[in-house]
Amino acid sequence: MKKMYLIIASILWVSASHAQVAKRAVVRDGQFNAVIQEVVLPDLTSDHSYEGKFFKIVQGKNEEAVRFDDSEDLQLKAATTYYHLNKARKFFAEVINSSYVQNLPQITIRLDLTNVFNELGHFANDNLDPQYNNALSVPGGRGYAPKNIEPWGTEIWFRPSKEINIKDFRGVADYGGSVKNSLASFRRQTHIANLQQFIITMYGSSVGGNIPVGSVMRLVGTSLVLEVLFQTSDVAAEFFSRKIYRLDSALVPEIIYHEFSHVALSNHLELTHSTPVNEGLADYFAGKIADSKKLATKIKDYNLFSGKQVNNKQQYRLAFERGDFANADFVFGLLWNIGETVGTDIENKFVYGMTANLSTNMSIKEDLINATLETCKQACKSPFNDRLRLYKLYNSKNL
Ligand SMILES: [Zn+2]
Repeated sequence: MKKMYLIIASILWVSASHAQVAKRAVVRDGQFNAVIQEVVLPDLTSDHSYEGKFFKIVQGKNEEAVRFDDSEDLQLKAATTYYHLNKARKFFAEVINSSYVQNLPQITIRLDLTNVFNELGHFANDNLDPQYNNALSVPGGRGYAPKNIEPWGTEIWFRPSKEINIKDFRGVADYGGSVKNSLASFRRQTHIANLQQFIITMYGSSVGGNIPVGSVMRLVGTSLVLEVLFQTSDVAAEFFSRKIYRLDSALVPEIIYHEFSHVALSNHLELTHSTPVNEGLADYFAGKIADSKKLATKIKDYNLFSGKQVNNKQQYRLAFERGDFANADFVFGLLWNIGETVGTDIENKFVYGMTANLSTNMSIKEDLINATLETCKQACKSPFNDRLRLYKLYNSKNL
């Protein structure tokens, strides 16, 4: 009997020392559908909570990590974000070889947080414009001792989902009664839909301004996320499955990649600004981290820059640069094409290297285009010819 205990104890000890903890998380299957599976969580430093070398997953304003005995719902979000954040980090640290990402300190990830970000106070007042159905990355701050506000580092926040009944959307009847049908019609008709624009158009002012558009959906991503949610039957996102709109951003791998990409690029592109160029870049890397043939095919077919199945492909317009309808979709499609033009074997390092020539308030037409041409001088396999091919690509789009 004693021997038995010893054997069991040593098995437990061995497994604890390796910290090979498996948890249920949302992942993509080969068909790009979201499924819940057991995955091994890498680099955990705690044996009872979701705290690891690179990420600590907390709920709301807590500083203690989510525990292995917390509710199943909360743990599913904790495991899903933890698993995919580590995958995204690995991509930048090991595939791209970014020393900035290699040296990032542990990042706190907040689930179910509704507060608006405040640059001085960290969290804005609880009652101020609570946020749902989106995610964002926030820069670190110095804190404010007189008000007991501790300094904080870069963080990623995932909002809780909140159901919004489809009857509150404007014009749904015209589109066939479900959000999914509505989106399909909208895309067919306009071919300029990015997710935010879609929501704004659908939501309009029909609810008497009770719920501002911003609290329904901030820029959580663009073509890529739209495509993902539209093309897959998502157990996690349940986005179009019923007569409701709701988005559990902590359960959508591509949103997690998108947010980490913002962090990974934050040495040159500030987290406080959302521009078409930095949103397009975050989507580009989210697409590459996802590394799915099926998704890549969809992007080829439906991206609004050059999609095979898009009739009315977009030409560059000045309106893409700024304002509510600033178009990150155009940038995303542009980057995807630049990658193919310079060669898929070097595209990720090319696009990443290019960000060193970018700053926060850059324009598409001048700064982004110049940065690609500059980068090509150094990084392209045949700089002269590849630059010509890039010029040709830009000319075809009025750039
Ligand atoms: Zn973003």
